[in-house]
Amino acid sequence: MDCNRCDQEAVMHAAYSGQHLCADHFRESVEKRVRRRVRRDDLVPRDATPEDPETWVIGLSGGKDSVVLTKILHDTFAEDPRIELVGLTIHEGIEGYRDKSVDACVDLAAELDIRHELVSYADEFGIEMDDVVEDDPENMAACAYCGVFRRDVLSRYADDLEADLLLTGHNLDDEAQTALMNFLEGDVEQIAKHFDASLGPLSEREEQTEFVPRAKPLRDVPEKEIALYAHVEDLPAHITECPHSSEAYRAEIQQLLYDLEENHPGTRHSILSGYEELAGIAAETYGGDDGADLRDCDRCGSTTTREVCRKCSLLESLA
Ligand code: SF4
Ligand SMILES: [Zn+2]
Ligand SMILES: [Zn+2]
Repeated sequence: MDCNRCDQEAVMHAAYSGQHLCADHFRESVEKRVRRRVRRDDLVPRDATPEDPETWVIGLSGGKDSVVLTKILHDTFAEDPRIELVGLTIHEGIEGYRDKSVDACVDLAAELDIRHELVSYADEFGIEMDDVVEDDPENMAACAYCGVFRRDVLSRYADDLEADLLLTGHNLDDEAQTALMNFLEGDVEQIAKHFDASLGPLSEREEQTEFVPRAKPLRDVPEKEIALYAHVEDLPAHITECPHSSEAYRAEIQQLLYDLEENHPGTRHSILSGYEELAGIAAETYGGDDGADLRDCDRCGSTTTREVCRKCSLLESLA
């Protein structure tokens, strides 16, 4: 089958758009969608100047999503002195898994010549996820611990690096899953928070004084296409899954979405676009009260709603 736009052979077919594309036109179409998302989300503020550039910290895990995000942002902004990119990689202490993906991050940062910071749970907290899973003092899933520690590292380093924006490689499948999970949980306030934290255009979000705004510029691109892009561009991405991954509910939703998409191509796109619109309306209703109950953690000083933040109490139970 030929490409719809030239006579080269197609490397992909997207059922949701009906398009067949060759490698060159496929690459172009992915890059276009990411750049359009950067524009629509107003990620580059009008007052950014070469003298006072914006610092964008990319959560660079070494998986295909964050590697593709870093590559496309680099190609887009390499010649733009208003934006400085920093890759931030977190080593959770998961043997055999994270070691390889850290190598991928180091290779990519060197290849693109961007600043790269590598931090570990071992250095930050004196723990490794492999041991946490073994101890499991709170009887929780590995990801529940890991997510608390990751959020802490991300927000502290975003502060230290004076980040204006924290970018992650969530793709269309990830975001459609989250949207559906939030719908099914029926927690509208959570949906409003999602809009203000990472989803809405920067200019329309409720100002977050305590947290660096987040952005997900890959969220219009399906997971499969991200993987194909990494392959076509021969990027140093690490593909295997974390051995502690345990999000059973998300896996169920993922399967549901695969099945729906198969029979009704375009379902992920329509879920996410409807969700974004509703989240914007929810944010208008709920906006403003966030931050009312925030205080400093007694132990570490980070922003929390309790006396002792979740991270400090987890570290205590692990000690
Ligand atoms: S899958 Fe879970 S345990 Fe593994 S790195 Fe991700 S959050 Fe951590
Ligand atoms: Zn073509
Ligand atoms: Zn604390």
